Amino acid sequence: MHGAGERIDTSTAHSARVYDYILGGKDHYLVDIEAGDAMCRHWPALPVHMLENRRFMHRAGRFLAEEQGVRQFLDVGTGLPTAPNLHEVVQSVAPESRVVYVDNDPIVLAHARALLQSSPEGATAYVDADMHDPDAILDSPQFRALVDLDEPVGLMVIGILHFILPPDDRSLVRRLLEPLPSGSFLALTIGTADFAPEEIGRVAEEYARQGMPMALRDLPTATSFFEGMELMEPGVTQVHKWRPGPEQDGIEDRAIAMYGAVARKK
Ligand code: SAH
Repeated sequence: MHGAGERIDTSTAHSARVYDYILGGKDHYLVDIEAGDAMCRHWPALPVHMLENRRFMHRAGRFLAEEQGVRQFLDVGTGLPTAPNLHEVVQSVAPESRVVYVDNDPIVLAHARALLQSSPEGATAYVDADMHDPDAILDSPQFRALVDLDEPVGLMVIGILHFILPPDDRSLVRRLLEPLPSGSFLALTIGTADFAPEEIGRVAEEYARQGMPMALRDLPTATSFFEGMELMEPGVTQVHKWRPGPEQDGIEDRAIAMYGAVARKK
């Protein structure tokens, strides 16, 4: 394979590496630490917010596997491996589950090995592609090999939509959903400044300064991504309020700048 290393830029911060740094991982560079520290100065709740986004992914994945019987997943904007990854969550419910991971960051590609440690009964694959080119994802040999389009699919778009700017954002999600059969699911998290507008505004400015402009969305805009779909209870909520467990006790609303929801395709 053409070396991912050749595309890794260690001179500017990258979203996957800043996220890894703040979540306590080890796959990041000095620029990412500096960017992450600057963002935390603007908004000290950032680590709580990011962890709760990750935990939403765990609960949504488990909900789809355990309560809805979904056995195949397309995860767009996977990020650096951080246990448990989606396949570990869903294969702990059903070992035969299959997960296709997608990210466009070369450093995620370089660490993809950890995403490919599937249970023997199931399978995982990694696609190096950009969400702005959904056909590259849907036409990839990995997607075609692992996903049976006669069975429901769980499309996970978690912690990435704030980097997918309007006006193409909704049509890109729609395009990814289009070939999936009725009874498939969309799990989304959507960045918002609704709960701590000043602090989040400063974090967004910092991301933009680092070359990562972001889109933040209010509740009606967040909800519009699910138009025509059947929202699962409790609808679109801040991520820590979506089917919370004991871990979510005591988390303050203003620490969470992310809406999340899961909906079924009719
Ligand atoms: N889904 C994971 C990781 C979120 S971090 C979680 O919620 O825990 C956001 C990820 O989206 C990063 O790894 C970044 O590289 C990826 N990303 C950002 N823009 C992208 C794009 N246009 N196409 C594919 N991946 C993208």
